Amino acid sequence: MGFVSLGCPKALVDSERILTQLRVEGYDLVQTYDDADVVVVNTCGFIDSAVEESLDAIGEAMAENGRVIVTGCLGKRADVIREAHPDVLAISGPADYSSVMTAVHAALPPTRNAFLDLLPAAQDDVGIKLTPKHYAYLKISEGCNHRCSFCIIPSMRGDLVSRPVDQVLREAEKLVMGGVRELLVVSQDTSAYGVDVRYAEREWRGRAYQTRMKSLCEGLSQLGVWSRLHYVYPYPHVDDVIPLMAEGKVLPYLDIPFQHASPRVLRLMKRPGAVEKTLERVQNWRRMCPQLTLRSTFIVGFPGETEAEFEELLDFLDEAQLDRVGAFAYSPVEGAAANDLPDPVPEDVKQERLARFMERQAEISAARLEAKVGTVQQCLVDMVDGELAIARSKADAPEIDGVVQIQNGGEMGLKPGQFVDVEIMGSDEHDLFGEALAPEPAKLAPLPMHA
Ligand code: SF4
Repeated sequence: MGFVSLGCPKALVDSERILTQLRVEGYDLVQTYDDADVVVVNTCGFIDSAVEESLDAIGEAMAENGRVIVTGCLGKRADVIREAHPDVLAISGPADYSSVMTAVHAALPPTRNAFLDLLPAAQDDVGIKLTPKHYAYLKISEGCNHRCSFCIIPSMRGDLVSRPVDQVLREAEKLVMGGVRELLVVSQDTSAYGVDVRYAEREWRGRAYQTRMKSLCEGLSQLGVWSRLHYVYPYPHVDDVIPLMAEGKVLPYLDIPFQHASPRVLRLMKRPGAVEKTLERVQNWRRMCPQLTLRSTFIVGFPGETEAEFEELLDFLDEAQLDRVGAFAYSPVEGAAANDLPDPVPEDVKQERLARFMERQAEISAARLEAKVGTVQQCLVDMVDGELAIARSKADAPEIDGVVQIQNGGEMGLKPGQFVDVEIMGSDEHDLFGEALAPEPAKLAPLPMHA
């Protein structure tokens, strides 16, 4: 992607948001028109000279590249743009991030790979359109120091490069000021955050923070919104953030891609983390924070996986009682070391194992959700459609986990981005169903007595 940013500091912030989202979704940013597949021009329309400058910039991008998406203040005057440059791909106004990203997806669809991508697939293809102004992904690092044999991220993006913690916290602060109520911390390996910069200390809001997962969580807890950790590996130091979860400073939710449970398969995968201790660690975390939700992903049918090793994986599911699980049948990724491993599992066996795996986990997930019936859960509303509001509890990450369907959402006047307490009345394999409770009336101070 090419990007031209014009205008005032507010436009610059818009550019930063769009650029962050592009990077988070895996788009590469390039410096020349020739290298770009598409160019986004963020315009200014404040005074005539700014309009001229913006139209010139669009003209240059059209002449040099030809595939141009226009956004920003001048986007409010689409007729002016169309008159000068009728062939631009799309036009949107200032801070309209979702329209820019929709235009980018149409012009240059993101290539998705279940094993490599940090973010869930966009929901556009299943007809649900959320405009998630109230949650945002916060990318804390690029690259990865591991060399998992099925993964080509390190060869594409290089070794881990952590963003300084103050920079991440400032971005988070800006997002919260812009209306974000849930921050989703993503990276390739969140638990390795800062190891490349030796956990360098930086200052934010007059206090020192280390470039380290626990310290980042402490900083995020100052912002008063939900913070959710994705892609954490079961290293011993993860134990340090569990007390913060128990205290409510960060959501009691860990997304840990275990990928398998057989020590031999994990060695073939060259996965980080001491496998043998994983179950013990999970049990210990639950002791420290009983409300902890655990999500994970697994690969079945990895080259060389025997029936006995697959059964080991099923036994692990029974013991670990994970709340949410995603699974994929192994498929080779071009350039991955695992392609050279012997004994590939036949396709029909892979599919049969995947079905058995999903069936086993479905029972576990359903039972864990059923146990929540009768409780009250704090939820964040994603959308309202007539009477029904779709929300998520602390246990549900957007787009990958289930939702809480609130039957009286319309009646209660709920709005997207609002927190609400919900009494849970039913459940199925994925979702919870309930009714929003009226907010507690504000307590009035007693009136002074008059003689
Ligand atoms: S931890 Fe493994 S799977 Fe994840 S990005 Fe690094 S090399 Fe790839």
